[in-house]
Amino acid sequence: MGIGVIIPAGGQGTRFGGMLPKQFLEVRPGRPLLRYPLENFHSLPEVESIVLVLPQEWMVAGEEFLREFPKLKLVVGGPDRWISVRNGFDVLPSSVDSVLIHDAARPFTPRSVIRRCIHAMLDGNAVIAALAASDTVKEVGGGKVSRTLDRSNLVMVQTPQGFPRSMLQAVYDKGLPDGAKPTDEAQIAEAAGFHVGWVQGSFLSRKITEPEDWEWAEWIAKRIHSGEVKIDD
Ligand code: C5P
Repeated sequence: MGIGVIIPAGGQGTRFGGMLPKQFLEVRPGRPLLRYPLENFHSLPEVESIVLVLPQEWMVAGEEFLREFPKLKLVVGGPDRWISVRNGFDVLPSSVDSVLIHDAARPFTPRSVIRRCIHAMLDGNAVIAALAASDTVKEVGGGKVSRTLDRSNLVMVQTPQGFPRSMLQAVYDKGLPDGAKPTDEAQIAEAAGFHVGWVQGSFLSRKITEPEDWEWAEWIAKRIHSGEVKIDD
């Protein structure tokens, strides 16, 4: 199985604030957030190629990673997440037959979760990493609750998400409805009628989005450094 990894980091991180996009911020000295997923994916022998999708203005900053990670390529993102991912898809080498997509904003995803996704992809289906919902989830609108969803059927979706290359090619070839803004690739595959399975994600896959998440990121990075928390198992 030749695996290509697409890491969309093309967002402007507007919710996060600050001058530098969060993926380049150092969570420990010399440890920008991006380094964690790059190390974890790069170390897997099944991974042939990694495409990091960056905003145009951060391409030069991204070049610092090219020396250290020979499987890495850089590509410029687009206005929406799915376009950034498609830009990455377009430059995958032809030897790649399976694709993992992983949010740069989830830097601490353990290698065990990545392996679980890879294993689940062996049957030729799509897969997402997710966690069973622990909160009660309600649908709201017009300032009031419209209904309560059955929590036993709900999962909170994370990445990686894995797809046979041919499946992604088919959905991109078909095109998306005008104005569609899917928040993950599984949505596009589901809409096209493909089977999408799920495997257990991790609390360590928390998305670093709001400024408050940064404190948690520093705390986890410190524990990874001291060996109390492992993400390379
Ligand atoms: O904004 P959201 O939480 O959906 O972002 C998920 C991931 O997609 C982030 O790593 C972000 O950098 C990336 N993204 C992108 N191109 C965009 C928007 C988001 O690569 N236009």
